[in-house]
Amino acid sequence: MSLSAPEALLEKLAAEHRLTETEYRRLIEARTPELASAAAGKADRVRREIYGNGVFLRGLIEISSICKNDCYYCGLRRSNAACERYRLSPREILDCAAEGYGLGFRTFVLQGGEDGYYTDEVLCPLVAELKAAYPDCAVTLSLGERGAESFARLREAGADRYLLRHETADRAHYEKLHPPEMSFTHRMDCLRALRELGYQVGCGFMVGSPFQTPAELAKDLVFIGDFRPDMCGIGPFIPHHDTPFRDEAAGSVELTLYLLSLIRLIHPPVLLPATTALGTLDPKGREKGILAGANVVMPNLSPVAVRKKYELYDNKICTGEESAQCLGCLTGRLRSIGFEPAAGRGDVKLI
Ligand code: SAH
Ligand code: SF4
Repeated sequence: MSLSAPEALLEKLAAEHRLTETEYRRLIEARTPELASAAAGKADRVRREIYGNGVFLRGLIEISSICKNDCYYCGLRRSNAACERYRLSPREILDCAAEGYGLGFRTFVLQGGEDGYYTDEVLCPLVAELKAAYPDCAVTLSLGERGAESFARLREAGADRYLLRHETADRAHYEKLHPPEMSFTHRMDCLRALRELGYQVGCGFMVGSPFQTPAELAKDLVFIGDFRPDMCGIGPFIPHHDTPFRDEAAGSVELTLYLLSLIRLIHPPVLLPATTALGTLDPKGREKGILAGANVVMPNLSPVAVRKKYELYDNKICTGEESAQCLGCLTGRLRSIGFEPAAGRGDVKLI
């Protein structure tokens, strides 16, 4: 077997946690069911060594479908006149958290479009109130790009974590997914600013986004190895019928699972969700994600009345269930494959 055979590259990745961009590309291009299953086996072992069979649950609160941005792939983009817009008030968000706390959640993720209503003046007191009411909980924000000053104020108010997918580590690819007024440099600067402010930071990308090839994915893997995020959200791209990418194909579930395994091997302690998009394309997608090396799931805590309106992509699952049903369903799914919901905030375990 030659040294650069994919099996040898996988061994090297598992031992050294790092490959070159060319090697990642080769590993991606060489994917077969056998190679993917070998990668999943190694990722599963590594994840169990650090986190056992516990999977962290995050209560996702979708706070607004209003967005000033126009990302070509997203159903919430401002040019989508058919999108039903809503925003939750701080009171409604606190009510969701109260329900979530009662159900056992110890992380709340506030996610939404870039909605100008949520100024620092609105968000900081809300974050502070959440932290005061639930001192044993982590507050994660996923509200897009903001200034470093704003990130600093929110951190001071008590925010623990921030999720901001980089979307692609290739500038030219970024520019094909976003309108000219959006900036790759600014997005990357935001990630670095968040890191410097002491947040646990999540990056990530869509698998199978338009124009993506193994070359771009290899760059994403290099970026993850260099940045070493605390969290990394990846899920298949799914077209939304009211966006410029309506006729594009959805991303591959198998490739997403394979990349989850590779990311676990690149950065063993990373908190890696099996995403809703994975569950949307494949009824067993989230279970498969866990078996491929993921260790986080994010049940929906949003009020049922708004869930269908937070339509990033078509056919999103979990839009009809009450929060308790979402939790019960996911817990059952985890147990069916030998995993357990883990107690506590579920911070990254740096090794
Ligand atoms: N506005 C914030 C957070 C909400 S969007 C932000 O953009 O960071 C959260 C994530 O949903 C995005 O980062 C993107 O990766 C994902 N997303 C958007 N449209 C999607 C689609 N059509 N298919 C799959 N994922 C999508
Ligand atoms: Fe807005 Fe985020 Fe959708 Fe882009 S991906 S349009 S920033 S909600």
